[in-house]
Amino acid sequence: MKVVSFDVDGTLVDHTFVNMFWEREVPKLYAEKHGISFEEAWERVKKSYDEIGDEDIRWYLPSYWFKKFELDIDPREVLEDLKPHVKIFPDALETIEELHGRFEMIIVSNAPSEILDIEIEEIREYFSRVYSCTSQFREVRKNPQTYMRVCREIKVPPSRLVHVGDHYKFDYEVPKKLGINAFLIDRENTIHAHDGNILRDLRELISKL
Ligand SMILES: [Mg+2]
Repeated sequence: MKVVSFDVDGTLVDHTFVNMFWEREVPKLYAEKHGISFEEAWERVKKSYDEIGDEDIRWYLPSYWFKKFELDIDPREVLEDLKPHVKIFPDALETIEELHGRFEMIIVSNAPSEILDIEIEEIREYFSRVYSCTSQFREVRKNPQTYMRVCREIKVPPSRLVHVGDHYKFDYEVPKKLGINAFLIDRENTIHAHDGNILRDLRELISKL
């Protein structure tokens, strides 16, 4: 049986929830804590994010930032309150409902567990395993080792793994090179190429498996 692996942000769930957390809630809490305006807080917070950068594992971790910014609240509580803003793409929901029972499905995401758990809470039952690259593998990218590790853990060769995600390099090129049947979801139609593995709607995946 084939195993179908899904990225989360930009693939199953839109970016609203994550953006609200990092760009609205965190600066809001920072402003309250340090007695400054939201605008000033956002400027400082953004500068700090940029200084660490997305090549550094700390950039991904709510617990790191809450400690650094001296925010006296558990990030999980903040995330929990934002849960109503998690939006599963309708085509994604239809696709996983359709594939459920026919394929084993897993999740391979860069999001840290605190964020990932809330993003996928509504659809968790469809997936046999959930991997957070940052929390479980301490990796900031889905590099070849990440995919090989997933294959080993689920005990399937790359040729029987299907992966779909929205990042051209890390969800598409990298797994493809390993012999994984990779698909890119490009709902905005930004990539103009005649490539049957580039999907404009996730439901196109159903007939391609
Ligand atoms: Mg993504």
